[in-house]
Amino acid sequence: MAKFTVPVRQGQELTTTVQDLTYEGMGVVKVDNYPLFVDNALPGEEVTVLVNRTNKQYGFARVTKRLTTSPDRVAGEFADYLQTGIAPLAHLKYSAQLQFKQDQVKHLFAAQHLDIPVLPTLPSPQQTGYRNKAQIPVQMINGTLTTGFFRKRSHHLVPLTDFFIQDPRIDEIIVTVRDILRDLDVTAYDERTRRGLLRHIMVRRGHTTGEVMIVLVVTRIVPMLKQAAQLIEKAVPDLTTLVWNVNAANTNVILSGDNQIISGPGYIEDTIGDRRFKISPQSFFQINAAQTPRLYAIAQKLAEFTGHETVIDAYAGIGTIGLTIAPQVDHVYGMEVVPEAVADAEANKALNRIDNADYVVGTAEDVLPRWQQQGITADVLIVDPPRKGLAESFIATVGAMKIPRVIYVSCNPATLTRDLVRFQALGYQATSPTQVVDMFPQTPHIESVTRLDLR
Ligand code: SAH
Repeated sequence: MAKFTVPVRQGQELTTTVQDLTYEGMGVVKVDNYPLFVDNALPGEEVTVLVNRTNKQYGFARVTKRLTTSPDRVAGEFADYLQTGIAPLAHLKYSAQLQFKQDQVKHLFAAQHLDIPVLPTLPSPQQTGYRNKAQIPVQMINGTLTTGFFRKRSHHLVPLTDFFIQDPRIDEIIVTVRDILRDLDVTAYDERTRRGLLRHIMVRRGHTTGEVMIVLVVTRIVPMLKQAAQLIEKAVPDLTTLVWNVNAANTNVILSGDNQIISGPGYIEDTIGDRRFKISPQSFFQINAAQTPRLYAIAQKLAEFTGHETVIDAYAGIGTIGLTIAPQVDHVYGMEVVPEAVADAEANKALNRIDNADYVVGTAEDVLPRWQQQGITADVLIVDPPRKGLAESFIATVGAMKIPRVIYVSCNPATLTRDLVRFQALGYQATSPTQVVDMFPQTPHIESVTRLDLR
């Protein structure tokens, strides 16, 4: 067998045309079919790149000179947002982002011979400043407590105060809190030495209510935090609740289960459409609040409820989908793996005077077979899984229960495609085009909704 040699070497410079954009938003240039991934490079642009790193299959390079500019490029300097992965598509015009997302789904479907049309992406009402939640890492840089974001594939902090896609009020609050903690000489936790106090600053802000939750993730409780609390309460007049989350573990997981409520109720409330929701620190809540009611409206319309359906809301979170549709159906059964979220869902039933919904704690793949044994059946199943998609055993149970209609809300078209193929093998067929809904402008994340029916 001929020995393959990488056609470029580290430190080499070459001039070429960008051919493609990866699903992560990186430009692709090719040397004899060997791909190099390049930040801040758009298809069609002629660039000079410097090769940084290579392995057998692919390499990374960076642009040293851009010789031509794509008509899809946005003028401006976005290097920090591209480097950190906060907004890997910030340099791409919004209309082109929408097209990119629709095309990604089309290509994934086509590669698996899934014959499902994909509708043009529904734009987000806000294209920047839309995120209602921030989890900001901190680091000591030259002895100063610094907030920012990690460079992609590293734990090197890039200092930032304008996070571009976050609610601007959240950005302000992070700086206010950072300055207070700086003045108190609070140290950042260091992952290598495992010393230091502060790990993350988490802030959530209700899009319609303006309620603010601040969570300081700390390795331990020290007396000085009492002073910090007083200063934060004074400096953030819109503060609703302040929480210490104590996380001493050697882990990448941001929050521990140990929340200590310092002021306020320990949660905030926000609305989606005409429903009100309680949100605890541990609970998932859609991060683009203005686009969420439109996502749910699409799912609801596709489901064609008549008022008689039993509905299973798997991956229920704090019950936002199930409680939105509850008045239009007979009964909602939901499951969710995070206990705090299920407690929120129960509270949200009361908050919205809904009594035809029930939520249990557990994984979808454990709970569904249990319900099957208990004789619970459903007319419609709504799934809204995390990026890894559905467990194969879960899909098998859906098929065994012969649930006639499935609404699949997906945040990852790769796992959606895999799961649609598995559903198809069990006799399910897509009966709607897939609707892509932009929940994450400036990022390559792709949300979509598809309806399936059992033939
Ligand atoms: N439908 C909700 C939540 C969607 S996010 C909304 O629109 O807000 C996905 C949710 O699934 C998260 O709350 C997460 O905690 C939960 N989850 C993750 N893995 C799960 C599993 N295996 N079984 C059930 N829920 C799971």
